[in-house]
Amino acid sequence: MAETKDYDVIIVGGGPGGLCAGLYSARANRKTVCLEKYLPGGQIAVTGDVEDYLGFERIQGSELAMKFASHAQSFGLEVQMEEVEEVYVDGDYRIARCASGNLYRGKAVIISTGGSPVFLNVPGEKEYSGKGVSYCAICDGAFFKEQVIGVVGGGDAAVEEGTFLTKFASKVYIIHRRDQLRAQKIIQQRAFDNDNVEFIWDTVVEEIEGDGTRVTNLKLKNVKTDEKSNLAVGAVFPYIGFKPNSGITREKLETDEGGYIITDHTMETSVKGIFACGDVRAQLVRQITNAVGDGTTAAVAAEKYIEKLEDKHAKRA
Ligand code: NAP
Repeated sequence: MAETKDYDVIIVGGGPGGLCAGLYSARANRKTVCLEKYLPGGQIAVTGDVEDYLGFERIQGSELAMKFASHAQSFGLEVQMEEVEEVYVDGDYRIARCASGNLYRGKAVIISTGGSPVFLNVPGEKEYSGKGVSYCAICDGAFFKEQVIGVVGGGDAAVEEGTFLTKFASKVYIIHRRDQLRAQKIIQQRAFDNDNVEFIWDTVVEEIEGDGTRVTNLKLKNVKTDEKSNLAVGAVFPYIGFKPNSGITREKLETDEGGYIITDHTMETSVKGIFACGDVRAQLVRQITNAVGDGTTAAVAAEKYIEKLEDKHAKRA
C-alpha cells in the first residue's frame, strides 16, 4: 500500500553526487533517504575501470559505487529503490512522488539525477558497454592506447573528444551520418589538422561486434550508396548527444539552453529548498570528483536551509 514517509532530506538519484550528499546529511544527524531507481552508483556502476578518482589508482566502477553506498549508509543514509516521477513544493515541504505511489516528504530535496548519453540503439551497444563501448573519452580513452578507435557523431562532443582520443589511439575514425559537421569551426579545424583523425562521411554504425569480452569490429553502412563495410576497432565512443535528467520538478527550475539545472554557488536551484548536484547541474566538467564536491556543498546548504526553517517554526510556536 502506498505510504507517505517523512524525512529531513530527500535525495533523488544515487550517483556519486547524491550518495556524497547523503553521507554529509546523515552524518549531520538528518533523517535522509536516497531514492534510486536502479542500483546505487549511477553511471559509474556501469563504467569499467575508474582511474581518475583521487586515492584509487584503478578501481572497477561497480566496486567504487558499492564503496560510496556502503560508506554513506554507515552514517545512517537510507537507500530506497524507487523511481521518482515528480518533485514538487507543498508549503514548507518538498515532496517526491514515486511510481510505486509512495510519497517522500522532506524539508529539502537534493536532485542528483545525472544525465544520460543518447544511445545508438544498435545491436552490441549494451552488450559491450564498459568493454569497449564508452561514452566518456576522458574516463576511458587511456584504456585504448595504440588501438584504433571509432567515434560516432558530428557535433562538438564527437569532434572534440575524437581529437582528444588521438592522445592514446593509433588512429581515430569519426563516423558521421552526413557530409557536414555540426561542430564549431574551430573544433573542426583542430580535427582536420590532426593526421590521426580520419572522417567517414555519410555513414552509420549498424552493429557493434566483439569477441565476447571486448569490441573488435563496427558494421557500417553508407547512407547514400547503401554500401556496407567493416571497421576493425578496439573501442567505439558514441557522441550523438547527452540529455540531463532535469525534468522531474513540477515547478519549473531555471536551466541553461541544454536543459542543465542552474544553481547558485550553494547548489540551490531557482526554487528554495530544492538543490541540485552532479551531472544534472550546469557546469564545465562532469566528473566523479566534482559530483562529490557538489554533493558536499548541497548537503551543507540544505542543512543551513533546514535550520532556518526550523527557527522560523520555533518562533511561530
Ligand atoms: P549535438 O550537438 O546534438 O550533436 C550530435 C551529433 O550526433 C550530430 O552531429 C548528429 O548528427 C549526430 N547524431 C544524432 N543522432 C544520431 C544517430 N542516431 N546516429 C548517428 N548520428 C547521430 O550533441 P553534442 O556534440 O553532444 O553536444 C551537445 C551540446 O553540448 C551542444 O550544444 C554542444 O555545442 C555542446 N558542447 C560543446 C562543447 C564545446 O564547446 N567545446 C563540447 C561538447 C559539447 P546531425 O548533425 O546529422 O544531426
